[in-house]
Amino acid sequence: MRTEIIRIDPKNIDSNKLAVAAEVIRNNGTVVFPTETVYGLGGSAYSDVACRKIYAAKGRPADNPLIVHIADTQDIFRVVSEDQDIPMEKLSKLWPAPLSVMLRKNRLVSDVCTAGLGTVVVRCPDNPIATELIRLSGVPIAAPSANLAGMPSIVDATDAILDLDGKVDVIIEGESPRYGLESTIIDLTSQPYRLMRPGAFTLEDLQYAFGQIVLQNTMEEVKVPLTPGMKYRHYSPKKVLYRADPDDLVELSRTDEGNKYAFLCSEETGNRVEGYKITLGKRGDLYTIAYNLFRSFRALDRSTKSMGIIETFPENGIGLAVMNRINKASVRFR
Ligand code: AMP
Ligand code: MG
Repeated sequence: MRTEIIRIDPKNIDSNKLAVAAEVIRNNGTVVFPTETVYGLGGSAYSDVACRKIYAAKGRPADNPLIVHIADTQDIFRVVSEDQDIPMEKLSKLWPAPLSVMLRKNRLVSDVCTAGLGTVVVRCPDNPIATELIRLSGVPIAAPSANLAGMPSIVDATDAILDLDGKVDVIIEGESPRYGLESTIIDLTSQPYRLMRPGAFTLEDLQYAFGQIVLQNTMEEVKVPLTPGMKYRHYSPKKVLYRADPDDLVELSRTDEGNKYAFLCSEETGNRVEGYKITLGKRGDLYTIAYNLFRSFRALDRSTKSMGIIETFPENGIGLAVMNRINKASVRFR
């Protein structure tokens, strides 16, 4: 398939150019577009045909449902059933944001999109290109992260083109997502609400907005996955990645064995590591660590080292999501 690449200046959005992509969505085609979290691979959430194309382009298992994106909080009723409790006032205040919510779906949303589940996960992204694309398309857009299944999420247009050229109808080149990490998902169908996936919207902010939030157990402890996504290995570089505390990275780097590794580490740890380093940012600046996380996985794959070892971080703020992604992508060192 021929992929059209459309460059959009986020500061001066050319609606005529975006209209081409919107037309593709309306005709049940696929469009890769930027959001504030990661790049998404979108199609009409109302169309089985479009949703099937999304799974096919990603190589995503058909039982792992897609998040639906809307342009405005009120549009939630184009996606979810009306006869349920929805905290509209709070959502209106919080959205647009990297926060996705699970509710019972309505009949319009494709069963392919939700993998046959009675629920749908929906969010309002905080990115002007995404919002304008959804508006012009006239339909909610189902869009999982634009990476090929199992690979790190895509946070740069160049990687979107490398991985998806020829697999989708359109790739929109915009600015790099501000967070570089996926949205937080909460289940609004249970009381109290449950955290299903930590993400760019922090747990602390969720608790501030909604009060008590039930946390999921770690992946190892979960017998029945809360979300189909939990069954699958995620976000991983192609090379083997270990994780360890800063001191263990430093110690390993000073041994002969250390030569085999790329060290994915904070600046502070990097100052003590002797060897090949991929720097994530200041240890105290977890937003920058998050921003560079998937980039560091790709840098590891491009490096000449046969494996990597990444530093572990505190689980406060966005650190909870950072460690969730690191834990899924790596095995503990020794
Ligand atoms: P991605 O868009 O690639 O970041 O992944 C979307 C995540 O949302 C996956 O982990 C899905 O399993 C999860 N998800 C989407 N829709 C639903 C749903 N209706 N019920 C449970 N989990 C969902
Ligand atoms: Mg994903």
